[in-house]
Amino acid sequence: MKIYDLIGVGLGPYHLGMAALIQESGAFEALFLEKETQFEWHPGMLIDGTDLQVAFLADLVTFANPKSHFTYLNYLHEHKRLYQFFSFKEFEIPRAEYNHYAKWTASQLHNCQYECEVISIHDHKEHGYYEVTVLSTGGETVTYYAKNISLGTGSKPFLPAPAVNVPGLSHSAEYLNVKEDYKKAESIAVIGSGQSAAEIFLDLLESQPYHRYHLSWYTRSSGILQLESSKFGQEFFTPDFTDYFHDLPIENRERALSMLDYVRNGIAPDTLDAIYKWLYHRSSGGEKLKVSIQPNAELKELRMDDGLLHCQFEHKLSNKYFERSFQHIIAATGYEPNVPDFFIKAFDHAKKENDHFAVSRAYHLQFNDQRTHNVYLLTAIEKTHGAEATNMGMAVNRNIHIINKISGREVFKNPRNVTFQSLE
Ligand SMILES: Cc1cc2nc3c(=O)[nH]c(=O)nc-3n(C[C@H](O)[C@H](O)[C@H](O)COP(=O)(O)OP(=O)(O)OC[C@H]3O[C@@H](n4cnc5c(N)ncnc54)[C@H](O)[C@@H]3O)c2cc1C
Repeated sequence: MKIYDLIGVGLGPYHLGMAALIQESGAFEALFLEKETQFEWHPGMLIDGTDLQVAFLADLVTFANPKSHFTYLNYLHEHKRLYQFFSFKEFEIPRAEYNHYAKWTASQLHNCQYECEVISIHDHKEHGYYEVTVLSTGGETVTYYAKNISLGTGSKPFLPAPAVNVPGLSHSAEYLNVKEDYKKAESIAVIGSGQSAAEIFLDLLESQPYHRYHLSWYTRSSGILQLESSKFGQEFFTPDFTDYFHDLPIENRERALSMLDYVRNGIAPDTLDAIYKWLYHRSSGGEKLKVSIQPNAELKELRMDDGLLHCQFEHKLSNKYFERSFQHIIAATGYEPNVPDFFIKAFDHAKKENDHFAVSRAYHLQFNDQRTHNVYLLTAIEKTHGAEATNMGMAVNRNIHIINKISGREVFKNPRNVTFQSLE
């Protein structure tokens, strides 16, 4: 029976970077299992003209090993794009190019297997390993064994209760699959206030002159607000800040999370500027815009009648209710951590903190037994690790912790004192 040192469940960017670092360093033997047929990064949201929200240096490997073959700069070099990138002079790179870079990396990794949906994990704690059962697309089940497990199943689209299972309404994750069809309508509404909502609104605004639709944007947030992206704000996404955050009592962490909302949620200034510019230009000379934008409006009820989606909103300040109708709705209402039921069942005996797993600084679950074989968690770690939880800039640092811990030695340096401000 073969026992891997590590099995990774799911292959998004977080595990892809880990797989690349493990393969290149030869640190240990790992296998990453992905249910889809190939690596693909949020394909429904690869809208033309959109950028990654972190600088290109936060690629899959650079923070662990800038000399790696799998750096973004080497990807550019291999694709003969370094000169154009030099002239481009941007730190934020096209989202579609990030996906292409990630696929280029994935195509060179031998420790990743596709069409493998993990359906159960069994904890053989007395023997020091885990049994992982996989369902292939052909319908067969295969079993693998590993001393350590890492869960990298990412997030899943979240819809508010009134928007669940409504024909004509799609989550933003499906945007590119539905947009051509939706654009034939008389009216489209975007609901939400984050970056995805803004990108979709901008995309529909740009193509509006070639179609008939009225475009609306409704959000329960108090405004169409910008993400705080100052240089000092970026220092919350560092190993130093995570050390500090992780050591706080749970109540303080929960308070800190809402205080950090301004560096985590909001819209990139460039996207907001582009939207405002379109609105201003298109309304020149008194031209009437076919656009409605309304913050402070929370969706309360939704019913379908005569081919229209009738939405009842509550104004958050006046508490007055009002109704608006649309042919189609894109709900850019966010994502929630995807922790599969089989995982919760398998590790029900792990230590908890309120409603979530108690996760160590090195990202593993904690048990009452003194085990050395660990279960690492890369999703649902917001309440234990704070701002970095869904940030690609910190993904490599998470991987450094895990690779070093499993190896029992410092395979990659794990730097500290990397901020100018004292974050304690
Ligand atoms: C549209 C969008 C844009 C984003 N842009 C940025 C950004 O610019 N900067 C930033 O810092 N963050 C960004 N994020 C947040 C975050 O960094 C990304 O969501 C990132 O993809 C998370 O990576 P991941 O590896 O955790 O999971 P995911 O990318 O969600 O991948 C999880 C993988 O697990 C697989 N899987 C799930 N269940 C199983 C199973 N049972 N068996 C096998 N495989 C399974 C899925 O098929 C999927 O491929 C963005 C998020 C979204 C939604």
